[in-house]
Amino acid sequence: MNGDEMTRIIWQLIKDKIINTFLDIDLKYYDLGMKHRDSTDDQVTIDAANAINEFGVGVKCATITPNAARVKEYDLKQMWKSPNATIRSILDGTVFRKPIIARNIPPMVRSWKKPIIIGRHAYGDIYKSTEIIVDGPGTAELVYTPTGGGEKKVLRIHDFKGAGVIMGIHNTEPSIRSFAKACIQYALSEKVDLWFGAKDTISKKYHGFFRDIFAEEVEKVKDSLQKASITYRYMLIDDAVAQVMKSEGGMLWACMNYDGDVMSDMIASGFGSLGLMTSVLVSPEGKFEFEAAHGTVMRHYYEHLKGNPTSTNSVASIFAWTGAIAKRGELDNTPDVVKFAETVEQTVISTVESGIMTKDLMLIAEPKVTKHAETEEFIDAVVDRLKPQLRSWDTGLAVT
Ligand code: NAP
Ligand code: MG
Repeated sequence: MNGDEMTRIIWQLIKDKIINTFLDIDLKYYDLGMKHRDSTDDQVTIDAANAINEFGVGVKCATITPNAARVKEYDLKQMWKSPNATIRSILDGTVFRKPIIARNIPPMVRSWKKPIIIGRHAYGDIYKSTEIIVDGPGTAELVYTPTGGGEKKVLRIHDFKGAGVIMGIHNTEPSIRSFAKACIQYALSEKVDLWFGAKDTISKKYHGFFRDIFAEEVEKVKDSLQKASITYRYMLIDDAVAQVMKSEGGMLWACMNYDGDVMSDMIASGFGSLGLMTSVLVSPEGKFEFEAAHGTVMRHYYEHLKGNPTSTNSVASIFAWTGAIAKRGELDNTPDVVKFAETVEQTVISTVESGIMTKDLMLIAEPKVTKHAETEEFIDAVVDRLKPQLRSWDTGLAVT
């Protein structure tokens, strides 16, 4: 799925120089660039999501989510929805964010050695709440009226003596269950332990509901988890936070919606740069969509249009491709394809570790680096290092 602006340029470089040069792969192409979404009345986004369901794996370039300014800039027929939201609603997926680690880009937390992956439940709780500000004494109640008759449930929330505030939140069993399933799928796919934290000591019903559904879903696949040596840990959310900070990483941390919102920003900045964060959408049926976590890097694109050199980090976009290719190889049982993806990933990391990197990483590298690579220069450096490695294989890969 092609996309917009600076990432569209990076996309083409990756496809031309890394993917199509070395792999004989039948790619289905969907152009999710802003203009093409507009000219197809966004049908292309729906087609792309259906294709992921059909083929099992997709890889997506960052795309513009239009706002008023973009409607004007691209002369759009309307303010189309975010492609990611459209795809997510068709796949019913959960998003996982995973940092990429290089030795010379040290995380802020000394103990972190392996990626900490966040799985955020993306439905309900305070993100679909109803709120009232009350300005005087009165009674707030929680009322549930069953459809088609039956007994009403009424619980008193609070007798207000004066002004205050009330919020009603909800979640649904199917949504929580598919979140738990997606987390389990992802943990199995990545072979990492699964942690889930909530506050069930305080919220015995609401948070307890999440805890119980997770436990039920884990129980159903107990054997597969055991076979893959994956442990599931439930803990209180505050304990989970403390444990994560002291850990060396290497786990999937499943978070309720608000916790995931807050903690994914903490983890992302703790690991260094947006250019090093990948993102994958996993459906409960085990369909995968890979992308970089960052946007289209508009500021760099406008520099590029002016003819100025850019130094945009392509690492997360390359890893979106390699994640998808490795998954493809796993599903098709083509180990050479998996090995190719792993080799590209190792080569990207060793390129950064050798001191060749874009500006965003140069600012945080240790030991210090004095010169940054431009956008295309970095990709070329990766390709230069990749060629001799692939040449040494006896796999029939054409390397010239
Ligand atoms: P952004 O594209 O993530 O970029 C924000 C800033 O972060 C950049 O200006 C740059 O900082 C830095 N940055 C991000 N990725 C980088 C990379 N690969 N290499 C180097 N620096 C990087 O966010 P935005 O500018 O707010 O959004 C631009 C467009 O992206 C919007 O239209 C938005 O709708 C869209 N978006 C799409 C997705 C998606 O498709 N998944 C996600 C988020 C946003 P400096 O300027 O300091 O160099
Ligand atoms: Mg946030």
